This record gives sequence, structure tokens and C-alpha cells, in this order.
Amino acid sequence: FGQPFAIAFNSGTSTLHAALAAFGVGPGDEVIIPNLSPIMCGVTPVFCGATPVYADVGWDDFLLDPVDVRAKITDKTKAIMPVHLYGQVCDMDAIMALAREFDLKVIEDCAECFLGTDAKGRVGGTIGDAGSWSFEASKHLVAGEGGMITCQDENLAMEIRKFGGL
Ligand SMILES: *Cc1c(COP(=O)(O)O)cnc(C)c1O
Repeated sequence: FGQPFAIAFNSGTSTLHAALAAFGVGPGDEVIIPNLSPIMCGVTPVFCGATPVYADVGWDDFLLDPVDVRAKITDKTKAIMPVHLYGQVCDMDAIMALAREFDLKVIEDCAECFLGTDAKGRVGGTIGDAGSWSFEASKHLVAGEGGMITCQDENLAMEIRKFGGL
């Protein structure tokens, strides 16, 4: 994926957990996730003591709707977890603009989107602060079980490694 850091995990759930923990998500914080997502997305903020806040997905593409994300941002919001689905990449320009405006971290969940690109040709998982992949048996790239986080920031990579004990 052209990212300088790739950190292996046992699943695409522990990757989400580690990324949120490395972002500093903790008790009292909120994480915005799409309402069309598996339970693993919703429980990982809970693992950190935070609250998942569900935002709508679009009618046409089933991807996280940035307009509803904006409506769900509060002073407790710490991170956004766009979930790229069916090989499609969320509107990352709009999501990253919100992240900059409100000082939020972004973990892209790519468990169901390997090598999907956005309108600008960018690969999903390489646009936010970190990308999360799963190699579980039903995913696009399979290793029985497994997960990986990619990111560009060395300090973030170190925090993620510390959390994973690797
Ligand atoms: C499967 C999946 C996960 C979790 O991956 P596991 O490796 O099964 O823990 C997270 N997010 C999405 C969107 C998934 O499809």
C-alpha cells in the first residue's frame, strides 16, 4: 500500500482497538462509525471505554455519509471510523476535511475493501491517519485469521506497536 509502517495483529478487530487506543481514545470519548458495519466496529470504542456513535450511510453507495457525520460531532468526538465496503472507498476528502476542522483522528476500516480507490485514485486505507485490514477467512485477502495496520506517522506506529506488544 506504499505506507512506511505496517504492523501485524491477530485480527481486524484488534487492529481497530489498537488504532483507537493509540489515538488516545478513552472513557467519555465518542467515535463516529457507520450504521452499516459489523459489530466489531461498534465494540472497539467500547473496549476503550468510549461510546460508538452511529452515523447514516448513503442510499446509493452504503458508505458513511459525511453530512450525517458532521451532524453527529460533539465536543466528546475523538475519532471517525469510515468503513470502506464492497470495494468502494468512502468520501475521504469530506471526512478528512471534518477531521481537520474538528481535530479528529481517522481510522479507515478496509476489512471489506482491498485496493479499492477513491475518485482521485487513492487507495482506501492510505488517506486517513491509519488503515486497518483483516485476513479472516471471509475477507478479500485471506490468511485464516490476521490483521494489519498501516500508517505514515512514526510516533503513531510506535504507539500501535506498544499496544500490540510487538
Ligand atoms: C471482518 C471485519 C472486521 C473484523 O475483522 P476480524 O479479523 O474478523 O476481527 C472489522 N471490520 C469489518 C468491516 C469487517 O468486515
